[in-house]
Amino acid sequence: MKVIDHIKQAKDTLISFEILPPLKGKTINSIYDHLDPLMEFKPAYINVTYHRSEHVFKKKADGTFDKVEVRKRPGTVGICAAIMNYYKVDAVPHLICGGFNKRETEDALIDLNFIGVDNVLVLRGDAAKNETTFEPEIGGNRYALDLLKQVINLNNGIYLEEDIRDGFRTNFCIGVAGYPEKHFEAPNLQTDLAYLKAKVESGAEYVVTQMFFDNQKYFNFVKACREAGIDIPIIPGLKPITSKKQLSVIPRTFHVDIPTDFSNEIMKCKTDTDVEQVGTEWLLQQSKELKAAGVPVLHYYTLGKPKVIYNAVKKLV
Ligand code: FAD
Repeated sequence: MKVIDHIKQAKDTLISFEILPPLKGKTINSIYDHLDPLMEFKPAYINVTYHRSEHVFKKKADGTFDKVEVRKRPGTVGICAAIMNYYKVDAVPHLICGGFNKRETEDALIDLNFIGVDNVLVLRGDAAKNETTFEPEIGGNRYALDLLKQVINLNNGIYLEEDIRDGFRTNFCIGVAGYPEKHFEAPNLQTDLAYLKAKVESGAEYVVTQMFFDNQKYFNFVKACREAGIDIPIIPGLKPITSKKQLSVIPRTFHVDIPTDFSNEIMKCKTDTDVEQVGTEWLLQQSKELKAAGVPVLHYYTLGKPKVIYNAVKKLV
């Protein structure tokens, strides 16, 4: 079922989770171990992230280097199939521009359609580790908007090959990303919102936000979106803080602020368990306020920390 239909039919705020494929070498059981406790909360759907391959240099016996492509977290499509089959819950794969040309993207979309996936979250992806700015593959999509248009084309039966102009039509519901604290490359929020609006006008049906730790940032963002004419559901993305190290890693990686009250409380903690407790409580309070404000879905980034999310959501529902 499409995410947008889950939202339309819901009588209350829904819950969704986001997981990462495990590092190469692990089994699908690591996904089930991660998700099993969270299934108690009957998530409407589960997102599975996509990760681009990276170029790494391997030293050869003669001292020269070979450039090889490594994807450390493969398996997004397979995990979606496994989740839908094992839990009977909808899976939402992320689809990224980075590391894929349009033909590979089309093949991935065909795979997703064949396994019964109804949704995709369409994203650009970040720059590769060895690049300072994002560069698409040769023959790939540069912006999420371009990728979105490719999915819309397939939904209209238009494939890349010239001779398939009226092929089978897919019917993907498309979500896109939004940034309450603006995307770090955008010169200002208004410009960022103009690009977001272009994605909505081209067929995006809902937005999922980057994580934020101050709900006011989400409320302001929703207001700014509405004023800009973006009228689709805006799903808040939430992540718990579980270590002191994250106080610097999260702002650096995701370009978001951590409120002073929260960071001060974490700095006072003596043990990791104390940090987890403070992080759980903050997540719970954020969730309660957002639910009371009637958000369509609470979307939790589990990122290897299902226990903390379990403890917060358990007190919420
Ligand atoms: P875009 O919408 O393409 O925007 C990128 C930047 O370009 C922005 O600054 C925007 O303002 C600007 N821009 C947009 N369109 C245009 C245009 N036409 N011309 C000029 N400028 C433009 N990354 C992964 O690799 N895998 C994942 O699974 C993943 N999941 C994510 C899930 C969520 C909910 C979020 C919020 C992010 C996720 N990311 C993921 C990270 C995401 O890929 C990065 O934040 C990326 O830098 C931007 O992606 P986007 O889709 O917002 O890009």
